[in-house]
This record gives sequence, structure tokens and C-alpha cells, in this order.
Amino acid sequence: LSERVEFYDNHDELATTMKMFNAMMDKLERSFQQQRQFVEDASHELRTPIAIVEGHLGMLRRWGKHDPAVLEESLQISVEELSRLKALVEELLVLTRAENLQMDEAAAVCEPEQVISQTVKKVNVLHPAFIIERDLQALSGVKLAISAEHLEQILLILLDNAVKYSRERKRIAVRAAIQGERARLEIIDAGIGIPAKDLPYVTDRLYRVDKARNRKSGATDGNGLGLSIAKRLVERYNGALTIESVEQEGTTVNVLLPIRSIAESV
Ligand code: ADP
Repeated sequence: LSERVEFYDNHDELATTMKMFNAMMDKLERSFQQQRQFVEDASHELRTPIAIVEGHLGMLRRWGKHDPAVLEESLQISVEELSRLKALVEELLVLTRAENLQMDEAAAVCEPEQVISQTVKKVNVLHPAFIIERDLQALSGVKLAISAEHLEQILLILLDNAVKYSRERKRIAVRAAIQGERARLEIIDAGIGIPAKDLPYVTDRLYRVDKARNRKSGATDGNGLGLSIAKRLVERYNGALTIESVEQEGTTVNVLLPIRSIAESV
């Protein structure tokens, strides 16, 4: 009898192990599929500017010598497309690095109050028409478990979006609060917002809300990589990035990052 029981026990264990194994394989398969899809999408994005430049080089060869208007236009478009291509390649590299980031987690530390203030100032110099309000009191004496370089990179992406997708209401706020063992940073804009149907996808690689809408907002063409880079970086440091948005009202990006230490107040 005891052998039977043991057999059933083992059987159960085997079934559970098989179930776990299958679930892992499904997950792996899904991630391979997503990876394949991403490579396909990225190739498409890379091919488009190359095809445009190719076309204009053909026009230059045929008419460029005799027609100054063609010369001017084709050169201008080619230069623009090449710089788009360069930016895309660079950002794809940044994304790959964010995904495969090797780091000494115990060593990553920065003073967020300082990093945020400096980054906000940099953005304000580039976009003087914006009022960027800061409420960072909660971060006084706080050290976060993330490198200054990566925190800056995340903030630059989020502030750049806040600027790009704002229209006449040029106000942005960066707020901080302590939430348990994490710090919560909020980047708030009063811009065009994100339609509810797109909201779940905006952190996907290469996902962009309708290009025409983006252009109408005065936004220069992005490539749909910014938010995915920011989210992956935040998650790499055991944080979380979430977005709330109401169309025509504005967007709030919440970034939760683990606290390394808080200085004792004197
Ligand atoms: P990019 O800005 O280069 O297109 P992102 O990955 O940074 O790529 O953003 C994806 C999409 O999400 C953008 O195309 C834009 O439509 C939308 N989006 C991101 N941030 C904001 C924001 N603050 N306000 C409104 N829309 C936004």
C-alpha cells in the first residue's frame, strides 16, 4: 500500500513539473515570437529611410546636374532621412543595452534630488517656453538604487515626450513622494494625452500612436522606442513604470524606484 501512495505522490509531482515545464515553454515560445516580430518591425523601420534615400539618389543622378530644385530637395530629404536612420540605429542599440544590462546592483546608487534638478534644467534650456515645476522635497537625503546616468536617461525620455506631446499648455511637473521602500516620481504634462485604446501598448517596442496625430501636435517624428527603453531600464532596477492618461487633458508617467538609504535628519 505504501508503494502505491508513493507512486501517486510521484505521479502528482511529475504532473506538476510537466505543467510548469509546459508553461515555461509557452512563455519562451511567446518571447521568441515577440522577438521575431520585433526584428521584423525593426527591419521595416530601417528599410524605409534607406529606400527613400535610394530613390532620391536616383533622382540626383538623373536630374540633379541640370535641375537645381531637384538637387536642393533631394539633398535635403536625404540628409533628413539619414539622420532619422542614424537616430533609430542609435536608439535600437540603447534598447538592446537596456535589455541586456549587466550591472553590479549593489553598487548602483544616486542622489535623485540632484539628478532630477540637473536634468530638468537641461531640458528647460532646450525648451525655454516650458514651465517645469519641481516638487522634490520628499527626496531630501534619499539615495536611490539606480545609477545617476540611467536615472537621467529615463527622465530625459519622459521629459522629452512631455514636451513633444504638449500643445499650447506648456506646463510640466515633476513630483516625488516616498511610498514604502520605494520613491515615486511623477512626470505630469497637460498635453494631448494618449487614447485609451493605445495606452496598453505605448511601452511596446516601436509602438507609436497614429503618426498623423503626432505630427499635428507639432511633434517631430519619433520612432516608438523611448518609452520601451525607459520601462526596461526602470524594471532592470527592480522598479515599475506605469502611465495614466486622458486624451486632450494630459499624461502622468509614474516611476517607482527602490530606495537605497535615507539620511537621518539632524
Ligand atoms: P516616440 O515618442 O518616439 O514616438 P515613445 O516610445 O516614447 O516613442 O512613445 C510611444 C507613443 O506614445 C508616442 O508615439 C506617443 O504617441 C505616445 N506618447 C508618449 N508619451 C506621451 C505623452 N507624454 N503624451 C502623449 N502621448 C505620448
